[in-house]
Amino acid sequence: MSTTIKAYGAEDAKAHLKPISIERRACGDDDVKIDITYCGVCHSDIHTVRNDWKNSKYPVVPGHEIVGHVIEVGKNVKKFKNGDLVGVGCMVDSCQECASCKEDLEQFCEKGMVGTYNGKDKHLGGHTFGGYSTSIVVNKEFVLSIPKNIDPKGAAPLLCAGITTWSPLRHWKVKKGDKVGVIGLGGLGHMGVKFAHALGAHVVMITTSPDKAQDAKALGAHEVLISKNEDDMKKHKNSFDFILNTIPVGHEMDPYIALLKRDATMVLVGAVEPLKPFHGGGLIGGRKRIAGSLIGGIKETQEMLDFCGEHNIVSDIELIDMFDINKAYERVIDSDVKYRFVIDMASLKG
Ligand code: NAP
Ligand code: ZN
Repeated sequence: MSTTIKAYGAEDAKAHLKPISIERRACGDDDVKIDITYCGVCHSDIHTVRNDWKNSKYPVVPGHEIVGHVIEVGKNVKKFKNGDLVGVGCMVDSCQECASCKEDLEQFCEKGMVGTYNGKDKHLGGHTFGGYSTSIVVNKEFVLSIPKNIDPKGAAPLLCAGITTWSPLRHWKVKKGDKVGVIGLGGLGHMGVKFAHALGAHVVMITTSPDKAQDAKALGAHEVLISKNEDDMKKHKNSFDFILNTIPVGHEMDPYIALLKRDATMVLVGAVEPLKPFHGGGLIGGRKRIAGSLIGGIKETQEMLDFCGEHNIVSDIELIDMFDINKAYERVIDSDVKYRFVIDMASLKG
């Protein structure tokens, strides 16, 4: 038997988010039912609401940076018990059998992972609904433990912004002393700066917003490079060991490719859309690479959360009520968020 719960969603690509009712399945043998306390606001939520990627299913109930308490577990669930503080990120299921799943890379499941929202709901039919809601039922394999010592509000964005920046830094083996650039000081970017700093890199914040320079340094950047300043960009030419690019839209690539050292890589995590044409010579001349990265697997997400527990790392957040969400979206679009909005779900339960 499913339960009807309160949520916030959008009925079409032009609509504001508003209160709606959705169904949650009953807690099955392998499931964990979570009372949601906080949910982060990712730029992907906005892309999905506005159908930027042309694959949205309506109504959209976004939210994939979920933190809450366990309120029910199925009989096969041994790892979690009522009252535990847990998290859910961008995925709620995958086949668990393909080569990618077996290598703990469920995000690349060859049969397609199930997104926390806008995914195919194999239990109730239709599509999945995310964390802008009072509760969620999730297969135990996709539930993460939140370290007890970190602030649960600040932990919510770790479930997407955190793992999406952590995974490429680890995959490309960023190490002490490397010169690492992080492009875009938003939700992902500010976590990228914190993690690169914690890994011992020399971190350069690459931003379009000079007014964020002081914050970037407080977050752990050693230098700030204003990307609109051509002279400063020239000074950093051919000098970066690694660049993490979080720009959320298609953009000019040549100025950033020029910053890479020989054999260095720039990883795109933001622009899921066509990029502006770029000159092959920029890559060929220095054996440079452009790559992409998608969130991270469940095992790696837990490792990232444990690292955050050990190093006391959380996201810098602005806590909002559910009904402030439409204003918050406008501010994210205007690159005016310090540095992640998190919804206090008590405001929806009311
Ligand atoms: P965000 O909070 O809006 O931050 C993006 C930042 O990029 C802005 O604050 C701004 O920083 C910079 N920026 C914005 N427009 C720009 C432009 N036209 N040119 C240059 N810089 C620009 O967004 P987010 O939540 O961090 O997400 C970033 C992107 O990653 C989104 O597209 C999101 O969908 C995607 N994403 C991907 C994954 C994945 O797994 N690959 C996971 C989560 C999110 P400055 O003011 O510092 O320039
Ligand atoms: Zn996200």
